Amino acid sequence: MNKIPDATPEIVEQIRPEVVAQRVESVRERIARACDRAGRSPDALTLVAISKTFPMQAIASGTAAGLVHFGENRARQLRDKAKARPGAFEGGDVTWHMVGHLQRNKAKYVARHADWFDALDSPRLAKELNKRAAKNDRVMPCLVQVNITGQDQKYGLAPEAVHDYLDHCAQYDHLAIKGLMALASFVDDPEEVRGEFREMRTLFETYDATHNPQVTMEELSIGMSNDFEVAIEEGSTMVRLGTSIFGPRDYD
Ligand SMILES: *Cc1c(COP(=O)(O)O)cnc(C)c1O
Repeated sequence: MNKIPDATPEIVEQIRPEVVAQRVESVRERIARACDRAGRSPDALTLVAISKTFPMQAIASGTAAGLVHFGENRARQLRDKAKARPGAFEGGDVTWHMVGHLQRNKAKYVARHADWFDALDSPRLAKELNKRAAKNDRVMPCLVQVNITGQDQKYGLAPEAVHDYLDHCAQYDHLAIKGLMALASFVDDPEEVRGEFREMRTLFETYDATHNPQVTMEELSIGMSNDFEVAIEEGSTMVRLGTSIFGPRDYD
């Protein structure tokens, strides 16, 4: 069954090109101001538009507004969207990120259709994804997901396990681990998660990849619609924005 969500009139209205273009413009201004405060260049920041739960019109509106990176949290929805609009690995003009938890039996879809896998979080998944990437004759860019909140999240490695896990992944020739990803605690005031972002940055900066050819620490994917400015101030190189680009969703 095709997993692309239906394009209802209400949703198509919500994500029409002019609306998305306006949201992207406002987000870009906020990103530029946050980069300014942090003394960083906005050019060094990747904006991943999280298109989960939205129909293909979201991708069309997003690309019309200059977006290139799109993120999905379900493997089969990503697969079907990437079939409709192929990512760079398949010769297309967008870049697909799988940002959600991946079951091993769906790793094949990600290895085949995604450009990046941003939620690597277990030895068994690394082994399976490496195998699937090999079958597709590719080296899969990945981020390791960290459970930085300590409690309320199901996924991600404990911070103290991350560096050992990166060492463990040195054996996988078909994975290129490019950095770390995390979701901060869900709070009303983003100042409350500044400490979590700082902890991520420390984990990111203190890994010694000298003897690990599979790891290059280039990307720190932190920051979502409610906290991306704080994340940028704390060193994010990649923000993942859903609501602030496409408007509210009924579900995740
Ligand atoms: C849904 C989702 C996002 C985007 O969430 P918003 O709050 O809508 O910006 C970012 N990252 C992951 C992993 C997600 O699942």
